[in-house]
Amino acid sequence: MLTVLKFGGTSVKDAEAFKRTSDIIISTDGKKVVVVSALAGITDDLTNIISALDRQNYERAKETIGSVSLKHKQVIADLDLSNDCDLFLEIKISELKLLIEAVEILGELTGKSKDLILSFGECMSSTMLADILSKNGIKAKQKEAGELIITDSEFTEATVLFDQTNEACSCECKKMFDTNDVIVAGGFIASDVRGRRTTLGRGGSDYSASVIAAAIKADRLEIWTDVDGILTSDPHLVKSARLVTELSYIEASELAFFGAKVLHPKTIRPAINAQIPVVVKNSYNPGGPGTVIVNKAVDCSIIKAIAYRKDVTVINIRSNRMLGAYGFLSKVFEIFKKHETSVDLVTTTEVSISLTIDDETKIYEVKKDLEEFSSVEIFRDKAIISAIGEGIRETAGIAARFFNVLKGINVSMVSVGASEVNLSIVIEQPHLDQAVIGLHEEFFGDLGESDLFRKTGESK
Ligand code: ASP
Ligand code: MG
Repeated sequence: MLTVLKFGGTSVKDAEAFKRTSDIIISTDGKKVVVVSALAGITDDLTNIISALDRQNYERAKETIGSVSLKHKQVIADLDLSNDCDLFLEIKISELKLLIEAVEILGELTGKSKDLILSFGECMSSTMLADILSKNGIKAKQKEAGELIITDSEFTEATVLFDQTNEACSCECKKMFDTNDVIVAGGFIASDVRGRRTTLGRGGSDYSASVIAAAIKADRLEIWTDVDGILTSDPHLVKSARLVTELSYIEASELAFFGAKVLHPKTIRPAINAQIPVVVKNSYNPGGPGTVIVNKAVDCSIIKAIAYRKDVTVINIRSNRMLGAYGFLSKVFEIFKKHETSVDLVTTTEVSISLTIDDETKIYEVKKDLEEFSSVEIFRDKAIISAIGEGIRETAGIAARFFNVLKGINVSMVSVGASEVNLSIVIEQPHLDQAVIGLHEEFFGDLGESDLFRKTGESK
């Protein structure tokens, strides 16, 4: 069994969290690659150092380095880690200081320097985690992530070069597994083909884990976080929301759009492509089943979740020309592109189009441009509700049940996404709570005991 486990910043935010994390790693069978984020808040601190340097506020940058150093010192002391770990921290901190002096002398802050600064957090957290595992008698070793993940030279937002990365990962991990059971690597960091440090963009650790899992053909990728997994609906609104224990990749992607913030679909793509199941698990409830995301769902006949989005604006656009104006749609979308306003739902006829946006910052510019060739109406205080599940494509009658619940509520747009696993409607925001609760009741009201939909907080 070969598992890749990824732990986010909250799973290593203090000594307690480190212990919980190392317990989870120790109780996982087989060989493991562990990918870890920086201690919670550290990448933000490092980003602040970079902004201070940008403003040539070197004093500020140095102060922040001081507090970053202290935060790590504290956790190292609380965990009673080895002297090597202390020493490593000192070396890394002096490197940071040197780097800042160099930036000050040169008067220039390059992408390369930024990535050296940004990678500090994961260098430290991975070293500390390997140290605590070793202290517990586990054969664990930290691996410089730059030797595993190879990217282009787009510093701070690098793109993975898969051929080189797959080669490096399989070769390096194989070597290390001869004498170790656990390899610990920092997430988010990589290097270019010339061995210079790069990073994958904020939140990149999930992606690191997924890339490594695909490269070494892991049996499973576990993403450890601080919630039970993906739920049937927002638990703040729907008290009886359940944990969905299995979703297809497409279902998970559609849900992510609604702010099921647990996973970004892009980040797990490499693992999904390699047919590796991705499991979202809760560090605070390690016995729970979590949510497994697989290429193809077991049950394709049902709805898996009711999601929603608030504060949506609907724009109705009607072409001023008569029927058959080709080019109308493309002209409309050009304008949204020009003003960098992303469009969520769309429904069209030949001469009119309704669409929703949730970022209104450029709405007046958009409206003005659209009015050159169409009449435009804007409606605010709308909400989108989506039912998500492969059953929308596969099962007759789901749409009928869905609309039956909404009797008496004015529905202003209906859309079935191209993936056909997402049935979305737009309604007036004041009706949102009632509609979501009603829909959840309709589709998940009498589940009883169910393996697919588990009560949250259960540990087995
Ligand atoms: N530490 C990095 C960040 O906060 C990467 C990650 O945690 O995924 O963006
Ligand atoms: Mg993070």
